[in-house]
Amino acid sequence: MFVRLLLVLLVLIAAFVAVRRVQAALRGDDRRRVRDARTVRCAHCDVYFPRDEAIEVDGRTYCSRAHAERHRA
Ligand SMILES: [Zn+2]
Repeated sequence: MFVRLLLVLLVLIAAFVAVRRVQAALRGDDRRRVRDARTVRCAHCDVYFPRDEAIEVDGRTYCSRAHAERHRA
């Protein structure tokens, strides 16, 4: 009887840990998706970088002012 109770307790703990891991993994995926959505590609060197640092010229994004000017010439 006591062994059975212990087994049920172990299964419950294992299930709780598994659920927490899945939740953490899902949160991680969401964070990754947000970061991907805010990443843009340089039209000159094809490097991906944060949108905050982008330089936009004629609707295209560049990683630096030097690349923006080089692509225009
Ligand atoms: Zn570039």
